[in-house]
Amino acid sequence: MKPAAFTYFAPRGLDEVLSLLGQYGPEAKPLAGGQSLVPLMNFRLAKPRYLIDLNRIPELAYIRREDGVLAVGAMARQFEAERSDAVKATVPLLVEALKLVGHPTIRHRGTVGGSIAHADPAAELPAAALALGAELVIRGPRGNRTVPAEDFFVGPFTTVLAPDELLTEVRFPVPSPGTGYAFVEVSRRHGDFAIVGVAALVGLGPDGTIERVSVVLCGAGPTPIRARQAEAALRGAAPTEERFREAGELAAREAQPASDIHASADYRRRVAAVLVRRALLTATERARERR
Ligand SMILES: Cc1cc2nc3c(=O)[nH]c(=O)nc-3n(C[C@H](O)[C@H](O)[C@H](O)COP(=O)(O)OP(=O)(O)OC[C@H]3O[C@@H](n4cnc5c(N)ncnc54)[C@H](O)[C@@H]3O)c2cc1C
Repeated sequence: MKPAAFTYFAPRGLDEVLSLLGQYGPEAKPLAGGQSLVPLMNFRLAKPRYLIDLNRIPELAYIRREDGVLAVGAMARQFEAERSDAVKATVPLLVEALKLVGHPTIRHRGTVGGSIAHADPAAELPAAALALGAELVIRGPRGNRTVPAEDFFVGPFTTVLAPDELLTEVRFPVPSPGTGYAFVEVSRRHGDFAIVGVAALVGLGPDGTIERVSVVLCGAGPTPIRARQAEAALRGAAPTEERFREAGELAAREAQPASDIHASADYRRRVAAVLVRRALLTATERARERR
């Protein structure tokens, strides 16, 4: 199918984008990589009357290391982030998550900000952002605000972004040295959306017990789900396979999966339990290597 008619704007600066969003707000959509929005428009599941193209705004496309933070402009391409030495050196979890996003052609166009703003509950980057404790920088007519990933995702394909607001930057805190990481998932074919995915971070204390831990599921609820009970059970514990199995069971109970054409809710819970165990094992191995 072809999209419904729309008016196309190609602004050259951020101020112009914000002014257009202010003017056309609820009837407008920013166009980033178009890898989700364009198919939705072609199926007429999205019918914006105004399309505001962000692809001519270089000030939104950057990746830079700041003090303790990796700052990624919303229009940085997923492929650039995956290849970036700065990302590899500071937030390798992001690289592992990015490699699971669709296929290379999609990642060449798709943007980091677009994936997070789109808020697909099965997507990898929102889960990675939540696991890392990222902050989302938002600009709009009422000024700038910074929202923790924890508060950003409110439902399937729904965030706290107002129609006249733009996500401009994702700020990933750089995990402390020695933090292990893993992003694992099960999908029907490589490149498909995850049936379930897990992002995990593990930091070990001097005595080898778990000091810091973060476990987030995707494809297992209306938003990425932080497995808080599993995390609480792991903090201060020895990193044994038995503990990780228990954490997997806890996380599976915290998940809120739905049944759909791809998998039943029960299957998703079972997969979540296994993936949490595997992700924690890998993250712990890497934490030991990085000490
Ligand atoms: C075949 C295929 C397979 C895929 N597989 C996966 C996968 O396995 N995992 C995965 O996570 N994704 C997958 N994707 C989606 C891909 O990652 C998209 O790139 C991503 O979801 C959206 O990013 P985008 O830059 O293309 O955004 P767009 O499609 O341009 O925009 C998506 C939405 O976000 C809004 N938006 C974009 N940027 C901003 C901004 N800065 N501020 C506010 N709102 C904004 C748009 O208005 C739109 O509503 C797949 C896509 C395809 C076509």
